[in-house]
Amino acid sequence: MPATRIGSFEVHKVTEYEGPFLAPHEFFPDFDPEVVRANAEHLGPRLIDPASGRLMFSFHTFVVKTPHHTILFDSCLGNDKERPSRPQFHRLRSNYLADLAAVGVRPEDVDFVMCTHLHWDHVGWNTRLDNGRWVPTFPKARYIMAKREYDHWQGAFKEPGEDTPHRRAFEDSVLPVVRTGQSQLVGDDFALEDGLWFEAAPGHTPGNVVIHTRSGDANAVFLGDVLHHPLQLFKPEWSTFACSDRELSRRTRTRLVEEHAERGTRLLPAHFPSPTWGRIRRHNGAYRYDFEA
Ligand SMILES: [Zn+2]
Repeated sequence: MPATRIGSFEVHKVTEYEGPFLAPHEFFPDFDPEVVRANAEHLGPRLIDPASGRLMFSFHTFVVKTPHHTILFDSCLGNDKERPSRPQFHRLRSNYLADLAAVGVRPEDVDFVMCTHLHWDHVGWNTRLDNGRWVPTFPKARYIMAKREYDHWQGAFKEPGEDTPHRRAFEDSVLPVVRTGQSQLVGDDFALEDGLWFEAAPGHTPGNVVIHTRSGDANAVFLGDVLHHPLQLFKPEWSTFACSDRELSRRTRTRLVEEHAERGTRLLPAHFPSPTWGRIRRHNGAYRYDFEA
């Protein structure tokens, strides 16, 4: 996919997997098939896979090159990770590092990895397998995480509990970068540099954040998992099975959808299929997502 710019920031999307993921009724507990029927034309074959009926998803990293730093927003799925409950991504072997290299980023070039939240599909490439040990993939990077988010998963990890991909990811993709001293736990309104800051967006996870960027007259918001799929613009109240607090997630999502529709903000969500970036528009009493062509 071609790069885009936000003022002096250069942005690349590096995709690890794009294609069918879960069926909408598996993903959204409040799913109503009538919403798909009524909006079939807008959804088309690009947003819902006609063969399987599953939601088309993208798992990608945004590479943001500012005048000062090379930054990754989220780090996808990762290779070799044990994810038995997600067979599609269990012991994955992807070309992620070669695809990063193709946009001019070697592991040692990365200054920061900023995590919107600590779910397994956002932290995978924080680490890689080296002689049976998980080591930081980006040897010089600081890994920026909201403290509220880290504390939540650390607490969950200490309690005996279900074997979930999030729990596994905390162990194989988060704790190793903490042990090397490369993690930096921050407030959920943290600003990294001029024109790049977190905004708290709790609900999907307790310390979930969106990332704001502003350079010159240009601005854009990296929405993370506030929205997972363009289908949610027809029903912004739909939270996902993966939201830790569905009611709070609903409140955060409806607030941000309304705000960014009003402002016409340029948005870069974490899972929308290509071309991914776009804007929310009001449409027939609800909203819809207009991709940038
Ligand atoms: Zn996600």
